[in-house]
Amino acid sequence: MTNTPKTIALDGPAASGKSTVGSRVADALNYLFFDTGVMYRAVTWTALQHGLDLLDEAAVAKLTEETPIDVRPASQDDGRACDVLVENEDITWQTRRPEVDANVSTVAAYAGVRAALSQQQRRIGLRGSVVMVGRDIGTVVLPEAELKIYLDASAEERARRRYDEIIARGELADYAEILEKVIQRDHIDSTRDVAPLRPAEDAIILDSDHLDANQVFEKIMALCK
Ligand code: C5P
Repeated sequence: MTNTPKTIALDGPAASGKSTVGSRVADALNYLFFDTGVMYRAVTWTALQHGLDLLDEAAVAKLTEETPIDVRPASQDDGRACDVLVENEDITWQTRRPEVDANVSTVAAYAGVRAALSQQQRRIGLRGSVVMVGRDIGTVVLPEAELKIYLDASAEERARRRYDEIIARGELADYAEILEKVIQRDHIDSTRDVAPLRPAEDAIILDSDHLDANQVFEKIMALCK
């Protein structure tokens, strides 16, 4: 596939299925899959561990600049898409905890945090052969990406998918609570001053309300050809 885009930017709101589909596309193309959300999650977890006041923007930005975050290919077959390491400690599953979900959008709205992380992401993205997933990849991190996709779905559908995932793991879930949190995170992500969540002007918008993961995958693969 000689005309396959070298860099693929995949943006969209929380729980839109970006990571599931993005990692399948990366596997199919033999590209690196890079989920930038894990970096914001890693900073949030580390700040919580250090007992930082998350409303103290300067302190959180300083911590981001000083914290080495490593994202590597998955070393274990336990459902993870990658390993997330902070100072050589594996924090992959900690980054998925509810307290991280509840605070990550606050941390991700800080200009200093975004500057530090998007610079690292851009460096990795510019090497090419990458599917990079996030909120601002097509608009800020890699505006030159050859293919930009904005994967959308209604908040209700995204909350339903998240609910089904949790129930399938045998855990308890409350649909109304999940929906409220999805809406809250969308609101913070799309109204922040720096790099708000929005489709790039040249992005292809895919609405997945009536598409399953296989159909979204096929559509993106077709766009790669
Ligand atoms: O994609 P995920 O839900 O793991 O992202 C967690 C949070 O990180 C998002 O809600 C958003 O606030 C932030 N994020 C961001 N820019 C990115 C990726 C994630 O602001 N490129």
